[in-house]
Order: sequence, then structure tokens, then C-alpha cells
Amino acid sequence: MSTHAPQASVTINNLHKSYGPVEVLRGINLDVDPGEVVCLIGPSGSGKSTLLRCVNLLETPQQGTITVAGHEVTNPNVDVNTMRQSVGMVFQQFNLFAHLTVLENCTVAQIKVLKRDKATARDIALKNLEKVGLADKAERYPDRLSGGQQQRVAIARALAMNPQLMLFDEPTSALDPETVGDVLGIMRELAQEGMTMIVVTHEMAFARDVADRVVFMDGGVVVEEGTAQQVIENPQHQRTQLFLSRVLNPTSAQING
Ligand code: ADP
Ligand code: MG
Repeated sequence: MSTHAPQASVTINNLHKSYGPVEVLRGINLDVDPGEVVCLIGPSGSGKSTLLRCVNLLETPQQGTITVAGHEVTNPNVDVNTMRQSVGMVFQQFNLFAHLTVLENCTVAQIKVLKRDKATARDIALKNLEKVGLADKAERYPDRLSGGQQQRVAIARALAMNPQLMLFDEPTSALDPETVGDVLGIMRELAQEGMTMIVVTHEMAFARDVADRVVFMDGGVVVEEGTAQQVIENPQHQRTQLFLSRVLNPTSAQING
């Protein structure tokens, strides 16, 4: 299926973000090519979510620039709503509207933000729900779905906006193990279709198989980046080695040793 908008590149240059006196991002540089899948890994508190939130303008950095599809989103004059439309974000906690049906969750922003008429929005929503295998749940409310199903709805909702870039912040961390595979399968499909994706994840098997590049962050900086083969199988920095030995099954940690 090739209903995607043209895919964005992302350029992050010397990005700094502080909360009060605490500097959480300390000069991040990162380039993502159109259609590239970058997996962001790193310990809790290293700034991964903050970085994604800066790309989606949910946070304002103090210094540095972010360019998405050639538009500098950190420019103070940028139209935040227009910029956000082209960037889809999927959160750990789904963030579906509890008082709206699955279908309404997938049409509301299309109608309000993109000004699509109801029938068009409905068609596009159903097409994307079909893509994630949930067209038959369109009239249900989110609380009637499993976590994995809710996350698939969240992905369909984001795709209905024709994003040029998809950001995923630990999309499977809150899921029961048996539903993780379905969500990762959909993300894998998106990657194969050529979507530009930045994915924060602890799913090392997914990163290994799907990522064009793996970026390891710690303490608000990029410590190491490369192919999955390079970063996961053969990490060069001690901090990366330590993190991976903790994340990967302890019995396989000796592979790194
Ligand atoms: P990660 O996603 O890698 O776990 P985060 O980006 O969530 O890391 O957080 C990085 C650091 O910034 C943490 O120390 C966290 O406590 C702090 N932080 C995140 N959001 C805020 C906020 N809104 N106000 C203050 N501190 C924050
Ligand atoms: Mg986080």
C-alpha cells in the first residue's frame, strides 16, 4: 500500500533542553533520512522521550535546531499545528480518547485539523483500521479493547493524518507480552513501506531486524550510533555495553564479553 505522504528527513543540530537547572538534552545531533528507521535506545532518564517530544513540538528546546522535511520546526515563527500534522506520535500509554469510539478516535483530528468532510474521514479511518486489523472494532470504545488493540488503534489514528514521519515512544512497554508481537508486526510493515520512523524501544530483536540505524543515548547525549549489527552486537563504548548487558537476557550477556 502506498498511500503515504512523501517521507520526511529529520535533522537535529546541537539540541539542548533543560527543565529548570537540569539539562536533560546536552547537544544532540542526529540525522534521519527519508524512509529510514532509527531505533533510539538507552537507560531510563537519558532523554529519549524529551528528544521525541522536541521533534513533535511538545517541548521547546533552549538551543539548537530541528528540521523536518526541510522546515525548521524550532523556528519561533513556525505554525505549530501545521508542523504537527505531518508528524505522527504513538505513546506508551496509547492516549486514546476514552469517550470516543475507535472510529471517532480516528476521524476527529482529520475533521477538525485537516478539515476533511465526515465521509472522507470515515473512509480513511476505516482503511487504516483495516490495515491494523481492527476494522471490525470501529464502533467499540477503547476500554473494550486489549492494550495491544488500543495501541493498534493509536497507530491507525496517527496514520489517518498522512504523516511524513512517525515517532514511537516505547509503544510496547505497557502491553501484555502476548499482544506485543501484533504491534511490532504493524510497525515492521510500516518500515517496509518506507515510512520514516524514530522508535524508542527496548525490543532489541525488533531493533536488530528492522532498524536501519541504532542510536544509544545516555545522560542527554548520543554516545554511539551505527547499524544494529554494530551497536547491538559489537558496542564500542562501555556505557553501551553495560546497558545492553542489562537489557538483554542475562544469560546471553556473556556474548558481549
Ligand atoms: P527517557 O525517556 O530516556 O527515560 P526522559 O526524556 O523522559 O528520559 O527524561 C529525561 C530526564 O528529564 C529525566 O531525569 C526526567 O526526570 C526529566 N524530565 C522529563 N520531563 C520533565 C519535566 N516535564 N519536568 C522536569 N523534568 C523532566
Ligand atoms: Mg521515556
